[in-house]
Amino acid sequence: MALCSIFCPRIPVRFRPKPISPFLSKPLFPLSYRVYSSLQPTPSTKDELGSVSIGFLGMGIMGSPMAQNLLKAGCDVTVWNRTKSKCDPLVGLGAKYKSSPEEVTATCDLTFAMLADPESAIDVACGKNGAVSGISSGKGYVDVSTVDAASSILISKQIKDTGALFLEAPVSGSKKPAEDGQLIFLTAGDKLLYEKAAPFLDIMGKSRFYLGDVGNGAAMKLVVNMIMGSMMASFAEGILLSQKVGLDPYVLVEVVSQGAINAPMYSLKGPSMIKSVYPTAFPLKHQQKDMRLALGLAESVSQSTPIAAAANELYKVAKSYGLSDEDFSAVIEALKAARSQQS
Ligand code: NAP
Repeated sequence: MALCSIFCPRIPVRFRPKPISPFLSKPLFPLSYRVYSSLQPTPSTKDELGSVSIGFLGMGIMGSPMAQNLLKAGCDVTVWNRTKSKCDPLVGLGAKYKSSPEEVTATCDLTFAMLADPESAIDVACGKNGAVSGISSGKGYVDVSTVDAASSILISKQIKDTGALFLEAPVSGSKKPAEDGQLIFLTAGDKLLYEKAAPFLDIMGKSRFYLGDVGNGAAMKLVVNMIMGSMMASFAEGILLSQKVGLDPYVLVEVVSQGAINAPMYSLKGPSMIKSVYPTAFPLKHQQKDMRLALGLAESVSQSTPIAAAANELYKVAKSYGLSDEDFSAVIEALKAARSQQS
């Protein structure tokens, strides 16, 4: 599979053309492609943003702050979550609530979904009372969950069979970037929907890439998280090795932060890893899911990924120690356990 057919980084705000007229009246996504060329204006003022009804499915660590940012920007947001109580804070901020994905897509122009994994993303979209049942032509569905390409293609097909548009848009960035509206969207699918969803993506994120056919966004996200998972496992090894040879691991974190291998993740997570605390920003179970899916992607094209395969084993061990819901930096505990078994 070609991973990326079109790379199109978001143009910095100062270089973007200003909208030339207000956002077009409903329906948001009429069937005429001509009407919605890339030159058409997109909503920008609070009033224009508020004229598009937005659905949001999945109020987890990521979905909740993303929906909150839409609300704060003046959007008309309707939320749904399997565990209803997680919608309460959003409703308190002015969101509407519907009791099924079907009702959300039936009443909203544009629906975002932020679900845990392929199974939940498919179930929420295609299952009983799912998004597909409520959606219709003139509407859009943007799946921002991290899933594999095959699952995304399946969801896309079912959504598009209704006449609606589909965009996959998994995100790079964690809990804090989600809170700060600093996510990076890796999108693929209907270009028209990409253009119309852009103002909303820009509220939730700092940049967006359009990567062509459905599956490319999912693949890009999995490659990124495969790298991240291996980096974290390697960092955990380094912390433990530094301690074992009598070095101060805090100094290690500082040295790493000043050199060419610096990544914000190390300074952010290192000190708490040394203290053996793992406040959850990215659940370890999701990191292992992403390693598993990335290895499947590699397998599908006979690409050797021995480092990722070894790291995946560590995440599996960490899960078996009950660390699934801890932050993925808790992978260090799997190495500690291996160390204590050896001594
Ligand atoms: P999370 O806190 O575990 O939230 C998962 C969401 O999925 C919750 O709303 C949960 O509902 C819902 N869900 C799970 N199983 C379901 C099912 N069978 N049916 C219906 N809903 C179900 O996860 P998250 O951290 O927000 O991550 C969401 C997605 O974004 C994942 O694909 C993850 O890999 C990806 N991601 C996460 C991060 C991060 O740093 N956290 C960063 C980038 C991407 P309940 O509340 O009812 O359980």
